[in-house]
Amino acid sequence: MSERENKERDKAEQEESLDDYLFEDDDEEEIFIDYICVDCQCLDPVPEFIVAECSYDLKPGEKPEFFCPECNGTLVRKKEPAEE
Ligand SMILES: [Zn+2]
Repeated sequence: MSERENKERDKAEQEESLDDYLFEDDDEEEIFIDYICVDCQCLDPVPEFIVAECSYDLKPGEKPEFFCPECNGTLVRKKEPAEE
């Protein structure tokens, strides 16, 4: 293998790791909380930050309510978080 080929290979590897970095940066660890419709069992994952925003105005102990995109029924949280 010539030195030139080595350099080109190194360059390709650098570009690859840059792509990985950009992808991870773009992918901001979004957490979804599974909500499930009590009427049609449709699963509708809601991003955690939406749940947090909707919980903000509620009294302690109240839970945000979401509605099924399929039948407009009530969505319930599929599993409660361990700390509750
Ligand atoms: Zn439904």
